[in-house]
Amino acid sequence: MSERLREYRDKRDFARTREPAGQDARGAGGPRFVVQIHDARTLHFDFRLQVGDVLKSWSVPKGPSARPKDKRLAVPTEDHPLEYEDFEGVIPAGEYGGGTVIVWDRGTYEPLGAERDVGEALRRGHLSFRLRGGKLRGSYALTRFRGGRPGDEEEAWLLVKSGGRAHRDTPDPRRARSVRTGRTLGQVAADA
Ligand code: MN
Repeated sequence: MSERLREYRDKRDFARTREPAGQDARGAGGPRFVVQIHDARTLHFDFRLQVGDVLKSWSVPKGPSARPKDKRLAVPTEDHPLEYEDFEGVIPAGEYGGGTVIVWDRGTYEPLGAERDVGEALRRGHLSFRLRGGKLRGSYALTRFRGGRPGDEEEAWLLVKSGGRAHRDTPDPRRARSVRTGRTLGQVAADA
């Protein structure tokens, strides 16, 4: 991962400033992750990890925590295309997922421990990884605690921060700003 923006990023809280966090070059530094905020039927966060040529996806109602040990429910959703990490805008009412989406954070991640095959780790129900985003940094784990058979409607996971400092709380999603464009949900909706 590029260290070129470390000092710049360490000085700023991208939940509060509209300045860009800056992106690592695509394809450099490992697979991608993205966290979107989605103002659909219920307001939630979507947490996505690149595994091969798709984004494995979970809906996280309360969002990823920046505090170690905070457990956040993560409900799996369908795989999304890699290009979805750039999606910010309004899904028309009446369409699947209708509502406003912002790219809250993104960057790269690195699987931790002995895990080399991320897809296999997720099939077995546990993955530890380190996030290097504009806002989220440190080690996290995703652990399945319910379900897991193909097509299981009851499948549920926990997303927990396992290490690193707790430098901010999960933001109020209505005030949070896009790491891409600095806009809030309300501004994206108004611009659409
Ligand atoms: Mn969603």
